Amino acid sequence: QTPLTNFQTRDVESLLHPYTPIHKLKTIGAVVMERGEGIYVYDTQGRGYIEGMSGLWCAGLGFGDEEMIEAATAQMRALPFYHIFGAKSSEPAVELAEKLKEIAPVPISKVFFTSSGSEANDTQVKLAWYMNNALGRPNKKKIISRIKAYHGVTVMAASLTGLPGNHNGWDLPVDRVLHTDCPHYYRFGTEGESEADFVARTAKSLRDLIEREGPDTIAAMIAEPVMGAGGVIVPPKGYFEAIQAVLDEHDIILIADEVITGFGRTGNWWGSQTLNMKPKTISAAKQLTAAYAPLGAVMVPEDIYQSYVDHSATLGSFAHGFTYGGHPLSCALGVKAIEIYQKRDILGHVRTLMPLFEQRLKKLADHPLVGETRFCGLVGGAELVADKKTKRSFDPKQGVGPEASRLIEQNGAILRAIGDTIAICPPMIITEAELNELFDRFEKGLDQAEAWVSKEGLR
Ligand code: PLP
Repeated sequence: QTPLTNFQTRDVESLLHPYTPIHKLKTIGAVVMERGEGIYVYDTQGRGYIEGMSGLWCAGLGFGDEEMIEAATAQMRALPFYHIFGAKSSEPAVELAEKLKEIAPVPISKVFFTSSGSEANDTQVKLAWYMNNALGRPNKKKIISRIKAYHGVTVMAASLTGLPGNHNGWDLPVDRVLHTDCPHYYRFGTEGESEADFVARTAKSLRDLIEREGPDTIAAMIAEPVMGAGGVIVPPKGYFEAIQAVLDEHDIILIADEVITGFGRTGNWWGSQTLNMKPKTISAAKQLTAAYAPLGAVMVPEDIYQSYVDHSATLGSFAHGFTYGGHPLSCALGVKAIEIYQKRDILGHVRTLMPLFEQRLKKLADHPLVGETRFCGLVGGAELVADKKTKRSFDPKQGVGPEASRLIEQNGAILRAIGDTIAICPPMIITEAELNELFDRFEKGLDQAEAWVSKEGLR
């Protein structure tokens, strides 16, 4: 163990890091990033890494894009802040809302801006409640989410999240939140069950839940097209069609959480298009500004919007909004990011890279540590297992996933361990050669992890 640098000491003495085993940080210290360029980031020790996770699934245009920097500078000079509360507005917010309406996967009438994905999902819940109050259905308030979903960390978004780590220690989930099955066929499919049977069972389980709770008590279901932080779970074919049929039967709206999957990540503008979802409303964030500034968005159709108009007239006002929702700097960067996705044909580029991404992940499935690889567009994951035949997992306490990601990082690639699944979500601007280099580093780290597992006798 090398002693902490001065800066690392200052770091642990002053920062409360999100998602960190804080009891360990005093000995391991944080990797302090100093600058980024293209798909690379560099730490204060001068080491370079391929940012194979686009930071937190968000820096789709990589780092240091000159056009983004110019757009930010111009907006800072013109109007660094203004709000859109009441009867105030600003050009970037309107322009971005117009652009989102143009590219939305379903007809959208209005866009509500937040500062983050969590706030977008929190807002979705409030809007569903508001809508049902407006429609005179005050009991139709429960929200269905899924086991292993990730929707953020505000009290409601963390409640929607279906991961024990986001509930334990926080007295969550709150009332009115229900969790249904996770469409993870590799893990939850039973012996001999086909994908189609698994989908039918998952849909039946949803129907049973709705009938048990009472359809008149349920407002909405929220779902990520591809589950990200739950372990990159790509639902089997026909999943959303089956789910959607059950929801439609009971007048329950589907909210798509496109916070990771929006803006080209899956090869289309939206994961909803790739996975054949027909959501009523959509949450977006992350690649909305390519992570050059914080921003989230909720997109709603005309009929839902009309219910807000009527209800706010009765109540006197639509009393919901964040100081920085619609921030001109963030919105100007959102406008520029979408313009770049369009003029540089980033979606086309993603589609060109997809066969290589798939081929390299499929090859990884042969690795002795890897039980399954999953992918959709340019987001993927490799689930590490103790026994490939029986799919037996390692004991989480052994920390195989985190150790593998540490070794991959030592080889100059940043990937993320979600338990024992190693996630990969490179900037969408990555070239073929760079993508091959990223996978070479990934494989090298996995080889070292396999050697460590064998040496320690962890099987
Ligand atoms: N929804 C999804 C699918 C996410 O992956 C995330 C963050 O990773 C969020 C919501 C929360 O977004 P934020 O961290 O911006 O609040």
